[in-house]
Amino acid sequence: MSSIIQLLPDHVANQIAAGEVVQRPASVVKELLENAIDAGATDIKLICKDAGKTLIQVIDNGKGMSVTDARLCFERHATSKIRKAEDLFDLHTKGFRGEALASIAAIAHVELKTKQEQEELGSHIVIEGSKFVSQEPAVLPKGTSFSVKNLFFNIPARRNFLKSDVVELRHIIDDFQRVALAHANIHFTLYHNGSEVFNLPQSNLRQRIVNIFAGKTNEKLVPINETTDILSIQGFIGKPEFAKKNRGEQFFFVNDRFIKNGYLHHAIMSAYEGLLKDGAQPSYFLYLDVPPHTIDINIHPTKTEIKFDDEHALYAILRSATKHSLGQFNVAPVLDFDRDANLDTPYSYQNKEADYPTIQVDSTFNPFAEEKKQPASSGNSFSYKTKTTAPSSWDSLYVGLKDAFEPQEMQFESEAITSSLFGENEVEKAKTATYQIHKKYIVSPIKSGMLIIDQQRAHQRILYEQFLKNITIQHASSQQLLFPLTLYFSGNELALLQELRSSLENTGFVFEDITSESVLISGMPVTVSESEVSIVLEQLISDLQDEIPDSSFSQMDSMAKSMAKSLAVKTGTYLTETEQENIVNNLFGCKEQSVSPFNKPTFITLSVEDLDKKFSI
Ligand code: ADP
Ligand code: MG
Repeated sequence: MSSIIQLLPDHVANQIAAGEVVQRPASVVKELLENAIDAGATDIKLICKDAGKTLIQVIDNGKGMSVTDARLCFERHATSKIRKAEDLFDLHTKGFRGEALASIAAIAHVELKTKQEQEELGSHIVIEGSKFVSQEPAVLPKGTSFSVKNLFFNIPARRNFLKSDVVELRHIIDDFQRVALAHANIHFTLYHNGSEVFNLPQSNLRQRIVNIFAGKTNEKLVPINETTDILSIQGFIGKPEFAKKNRGEQFFFVNDRFIKNGYLHHAIMSAYEGLLKDGAQPSYFLYLDVPPHTIDINIHPTKTEIKFDDEHALYAILRSATKHSLGQFNVAPVLDFDRDANLDTPYSYQNKEADYPTIQVDSTFNPFAEEKKQPASSGNSFSYKTKTTAPSSWDSLYVGLKDAFEPQEMQFESEAITSSLFGENEVEKAKTATYQIHKKYIVSPIKSGMLIIDQQRAHQRILYEQFLKNITIQHASSQQLLFPLTLYFSGNELALLQELRSSLENTGFVFEDITSESVLISGMPVTVSESEVSIVLEQLISDLQDEIPDSSFSQMDSMAKSMAKSLAVKTGTYLTETEQENIVNNLFGCKEQSVSPFNKPTFITLSVEDLDKKFSI
């Protein structure tokens, strides 16, 4: 019988290899960025069109290639980075397999322009589906530019398999961010369809993280620094109160290479034990430096997994370093009696007469004035009418106190206000000073005694009424996002968001697009910060998912409740005097002041008689 085994032609072998190396446009991005870094570039530009499906171009100012190398780099197993097997155990570069460019050239139209500093001329090469089309000398700046066009042009099945542009771009951005986070000393820019998405100047690590994640990132970072014989750890971890519901901000880098490692992730999570709400995910940006011979990067073709020699020791060190940082920066509770320093009276003040605080009162301020202008709701099945006789001074804020302990049903048609518990002049304006205790209650003196407000519940009430009003009658304005946010959800969740879309838009959200995988958000309510957007929406989905609304109103009501719950200040939050006053003022500007949207009392009063009784024992 004749022999049947043959060697595959190179272009077929390359196509097969490409299946492993290039799964999607983001894989090309990663390989090209890493090559640019290995070439010593300090400035790297990434230009994409149609989420990389039409064009991926990487321009660097690195060392460039000679005429021969420019051609050789497309051969399989062509690399300048290792020469012998032992080099595999002492890697200092990103690449080493020498198969990325060969694979990419097998499945796309590739153009390479490259020049070394000392040369007069550079090379310009065009290669399509592994076939060299042209190679010419060209006048070029120092460095290298790779353009990869029409990815998978010769493998239609793979091309059709690609996800929507939104999803593919998300993958590109993920890879871009990982590389950019590992190399803060390199200037990176990313353009997509002609607009600049990221421009990250050379900076220190903290600045790089903040430039990428923006928002409140800077306040939430706690540094971590630990050096031992077997590794050094550097970077930042997030304060527990900023933990998110998803794992989008968790990064491990080992010798400047992004890796995933469930075991090390567990080490971090165990250090946060007791500090996080169920399911909350802390942010971390951790850079581990280990001697190259103690790791094996070779176990996964796309190289995000690596094997450590001594994983148990790493686990222990990482866990204790994380705990240490959390404790050192007073993020974790310390075993100490938690005294509220606010309650101590300095000795020198003990026998002094108290100075009564004076407060400027705008007697023309009318909390209901704005509502008066509102027409009764139009097009809604219920009405949200304005108060008919609104008292005209600040005193009116205390109107309604008499109902404090009788939780009522939400009434949107408010009754005329006939009397107030304290009478016209009883609330002493001069004593409207507020005081926060235990980061939980706001205390304020009133004529008949004192008022103790639960800050979280009161704020929930304020936000609830505000959102409900926005959703039903008075649409809120929104703040524009500099870069639209993409958030990913499951099909069911997206269907729910689609259903809630117009209500959410009334509160100030602007949805550029809701696709089958994600939502693209370009604006949000002014009361929401960028980092809170995903929390609010995730909470909303989980609150509303299991609920079968019996009317469109009950759905709006649940929405307002959910958003109020997510965004209200929490117990444990310090409030400035102005914030305390705002809560007091706004609470008593609410239609229903005495209970939270979840029917819990928002405040209690202690009368002088109550106090007297306590002292008479
Ligand atoms: P590897 O990175 O594993 O060596 P690649 O196929 O990615 O394999 O690249 C092959 C070779 O081409 C590299 O070893 C390097 O010498 C050269 N090369 C690739 N990209 C660049 C670049 N941007 N600048 C300079 N040389 C490059
Ligand atoms: Mg490479």
